Amino acid sequence: MRRRDFCELMAAGVGLSASVLAAFELGLLAGTPLQAFAQEPSIPWPAKANYPNNRGPLLQTKYVRLPLGTGRPMGWLRDQLNVQANGLTSHLNEVWGVVEASAWIGDVGKNVTPECCTARFVPRWLEGLTALAGVLDDDRLKALADPYMQYILKVKDPATVTPSVCAWCHLGRFLPEYYELTGDARAIKLARTILDYADSVRDSKDDKVVEPARLGMLLGFGWWYYNRTGDRDIPALIERCTKRCVEDWKSYFVHFPEDSKYFVHFPDVTTEKSQEEDPSSWTRQGVDVTQAIQYPVLYYLMSKDETDKNSITQGMANLDKGYGQVGARWSGDEWLASTDPTQGTELCDVEELLYSLEKNFEAVGELVFADRIEQLMFNAFPGTCTADMWAHQYDQQANQVLVSVAKRPWHENGDTSNIYGFTPNFPCCLANMHSPWPRYVESMWMATADNGLVAALYGPCRFNAKVGQGSNIEITEETDYPFSDRVRITIRSKQPASFPLYFRIPAWANRAELSVSADPKPSHPQSGTLFKVDRVWKDGDAVTLDFNFKVRAETRRNNAVAIAWGPLYFVLRIGELFQKIPALALWDSPDMVTAPPGCVNWQIAPTTDWNYALAIDRNNPQCTMITTRISSMPFAQKGEPVKVPGADEFNPWKEDVPMVLKVKARRVPQWGMNGANAAAVPVSPVITDSPETLVELIPYGCSRLRISEFPTV
Ligand SMILES: [Zn+2]
Repeated sequence: MRRRDFCELMAAGVGLSASVLAAFELGLLAGTPLQAFAQEPSIPWPAKANYPNNRGPLLQTKYVRLPLGTGRPMGWLRDQLNVQANGLTSHLNEVWGVVEASAWIGDVGKNVTPECCTARFVPRWLEGLTALAGVLDDDRLKALADPYMQYILKVKDPATVTPSVCAWCHLGRFLPEYYELTGDARAIKLARTILDYADSVRDSKDDKVVEPARLGMLLGFGWWYYNRTGDRDIPALIERCTKRCVEDWKSYFVHFPEDSKYFVHFPDVTTEKSQEEDPSSWTRQGVDVTQAIQYPVLYYLMSKDETDKNSITQGMANLDKGYGQVGARWSGDEWLASTDPTQGTELCDVEELLYSLEKNFEAVGELVFADRIEQLMFNAFPGTCTADMWAHQYDQQANQVLVSVAKRPWHENGDTSNIYGFTPNFPCCLANMHSPWPRYVESMWMATADNGLVAALYGPCRFNAKVGQGSNIEITEETDYPFSDRVRITIRSKQPASFPLYFRIPAWANRAELSVSADPKPSHPQSGTLFKVDRVWKDGDAVTLDFNFKVRAETRRNNAVAIAWGPLYFVLRIGELFQKIPALALWDSPDMVTAPPGCVNWQIAPTTDWNYALAIDRNNPQCTMITTRISSMPFAQKGEPVKVPGADEFNPWKEDVPMVLKVKARRVPQWGMNGANAAAVPVSPVITDSPETLVELIPYGCSRLRISEFPTV
């Protein structure tokens, strides 16, 4: 389906005969001789590749991420990254004393205690700041990071800044990007310093030094250091430091729900467990889990044990079953909880899962990882920040009808967790909100073993890359994806060049069509596959992808439905009354404090009804789609108070969301509140005498109040 000013979606099929569909299923219409389905090629990475892969004895990764700075966002994606660059990311050192005066910039002992997490805050901000500076090529952002990096790169003994290995791992994991951006070889040396330090304290029982569940973080930048230097000590060092951690997580992923320690009540643990019971005795912490999703995969590159890699597939399926929420996330408020749509998910869970999936996709190329990245990036992440990125939540909810300071039935997280503010609940998310958007851009195109490129993640962008026999090309991707299902890719090359391009066909594509400008015959690749186009490309050649999305209804808990189109989830538009919270009690003090100058803590009350059941056929949902121009604040809803560059105050945004679905619904008067949350979704089908009406659904990422999981009549 192409983006149109107005279109009526009739989801009754696309006119393909059953026999043609069957032929596609069987792969009988696999394209012209130049275009064939890629069959999991185990092509060895050539010795003289344009982009080097792992050194032996490590296994080669399936793809290789292109260096930071080779890709730039375009279109709405550039607007979104500019929104971020004008928001908290470039002002954090002005408004947060933890960043302004820090041991990470030479103020010895400052703001790296008392919590083991505190030491991580500055590295996490620098991680996002470096990536953002790189994809935008923004000298102002580079200059902001520079004094911190100049100090950090001279550190000889990590413990003099902080003894926390985890904090140093957060620093370590963006050293590859920093090196790509600056060419500063001290980044390579520092990686070894961190690895040696971790090795020296690996058996420490002090969680301010070592958090055993997170030692797997060494794998990513450890392999990077090894590849740069060939240092033969490293594989054994990495194994010593990470083996126990990886084995623990592998066992968890493979054995639950049978693991009685953690899953005695699986899958609906929250209804069985009281608030008083120590959650660490029966479940696991969200960020521990989302970080660990990469460990067995990266360890597999050394162990070559397929069961390491495969444990992730099994683990993710079980996590979906036990804790799955719309848009590919899991509940985690602070601990994995249940599939109830009012459980919270911490912003850091979304950020860490995105990072893990990006590493995993590069390592093994499984397309489901890329599908999940898009779903998380376009729904959960923008939905848990304000549209101007000046405020964020700690915990988001799929059914979030009231944003307020109130007790909610969450495990550990406090009463401020679901407000949009400066440091709701705890400041980790404030440090962690800076890397998802730029890292998404970094991972959009990757190098392949046959000196081609793969379109891993979609959106408007431009990449410069080497292909074939070292030819320099530019790829321009013009699209409003995910607010459109059509992508046009143009090749710019001084000379004709022979190389393959691979296109990921998302699982939600519906009779995708791929056309090459020089070839009159389109192809129809299957959803959930990789499609290869191998040819001699000339300057100006273009590929058009038409994914033909259809509105679909997914069945959720209590037989509810969630509505999706492509990677986007659509939620009930609820009138939002934003109110400034004058003062809050923060995590570390009972005293009431205000947000710093320029920042606001928001509570949001509903001004319209939210208790609707959809009057749809869930197998064939009918709705009207209205699309409008994507505004320069792409995830803003009309009326949302936002701060634009140069303004001191927050003013209502004047433009509306890019897409609206209109769908038939009926109010369900008996569905009300349960404390500060929407009550459980009534089991469908529900009975109601309320008249049928049309309601508006908007993209999840544009909503601060929402119903994502609806009953049906
Ligand atoms: Zn957090």
